[in-house]
Amino acid sequence: MASLAPLSYSSYRTYLECPLRWKFLYVDRLPEEPRGYFTFGRVVHSVLEELVRPLVVPGARRVSAAETQRTLDDWPGAGRAEHADLMSREEMLELYDRAWLSDGYASPEEEARYRALGRDLLGRYYDELTRDRPRPIAVEEHLEARWDGIPIHGYIDRIDRTPAGGLEIVDYKTSRELSHEDARDSDQLTLYQVLVEKNYTEPVERLTLFHLRSLKPLRAAPRASTALSVLHDRMGTVSDGIRAEAFEPTPGRQCSRCDFRSRCPEFSEVPKGEAERLRGLVDRFEALRAEEGRLEGELRRTADELHRAAEELGVHRVPGTRAIAVRKREESWMYPVEAVRPLLERAGLADRIGSGSPEEIRRLVRDPTVDPEIRRRLAEAGSRRVRWYWELDDGPAGSRSLRS
Ligand code: SF4
Repeated sequence: MASLAPLSYSSYRTYLECPLRWKFLYVDRLPEEPRGYFTFGRVVHSVLEELVRPLVVPGARRVSAAETQRTLDDWPGAGRAEHADLMSREEMLELYDRAWLSDGYASPEEEARYRALGRDLLGRYYDELTRDRPRPIAVEEHLEARWDGIPIHGYIDRIDRTPAGGLEIVDYKTSRELSHEDARDSDQLTLYQVLVEKNYTEPVERLTLFHLRSLKPLRAAPRASTALSVLHDRMGTVSDGIRAEAFEPTPGRQCSRCDFRSRCPEFSEVPKGEAERLRGLVDRFEALRAEEGRLEGELRRTADELHRAAEELGVHRVPGTRAIAVRKREESWMYPVEAVRPLLERAGLADRIGSGSPEEIRRLVRDPTVDPEIRRRLAEAGSRRVRWYWELDDGPAGSRSLRS
């Protein structure tokens, strides 16, 4: 079994989409082709981090028994950070130019479009920030925790203090479209809530996706315990799969943007030298499958004909040339639990059955210590099913059965 490194949201998502792709990325550490929209997101995030960092007043962390708990009031810069100098708009745009990366864009035109978009949204964000300063306790913070046995981690864009003294988790998004449902349903925010709750003492009050293109904070309430359990179960399934090294390919829409198609069995082609031999095997397999279906049908029809003849003649053993066909009977009973349980309760016998399986009821029907009237009514409530089948007795070699 593989040991489990802490799961991030993207690692969890990747495994859910395709375990083999997860292996290529997290075990084999194969690089992916850069993509313009990811590069763009990284650059914008890095500028926002530098822009907001002067406003940070660290919050109260959960500490081990050996450490002393620091609170907001212990932080020497607490009073000043609200009035800290922000870099100027020009400084921010210079920083943006310095941070710019050209990796992954499909063309110079696409890169220019993204670059202009970044200047525009950062400029508007800057205006918003000077109008309404947040009170961050952390930016780009790496948090780790153990969530009931599952190691987890994540980088959180921003954690703010709310007016009521709680915490707001903010995740910047540069994507085109975003809705309130995205904030309500985001597993990423759910995971961040767990990370923050396990690392900070103040309660999480809001989960927010900040849509940078529209400057809209899309807010959701913190997740209740049911939603937390659902994600914990899913992450547990993922971590079990990783520990068991279950890395099967799972083809789907994600394949179109997967860089590992040439290594994936779902997309790999049979080597030319093997093609002829394998084609022969596939053709034979296909023919045997067709034959199997035909033989199954013929076997059933022959057994039915034997049944009818055996019924008419009143015989259970029919000799053939090499073996004797022996007719066998199998009986099963069905009892409607909704009818049987009240009867047993009235008779004080409810504790004699567990799940109410037919075998349990049948035992009561046969039990001489049970009132005969109850046994009769139980028997009447049941319906019997009889199946006949044939066994071939071929002497010392043993017998083979054919159920039909
Ligand atoms: S091509 Fe599809 S199935 Fe294969 S590893 Fe990539 S995502 Fe998985």
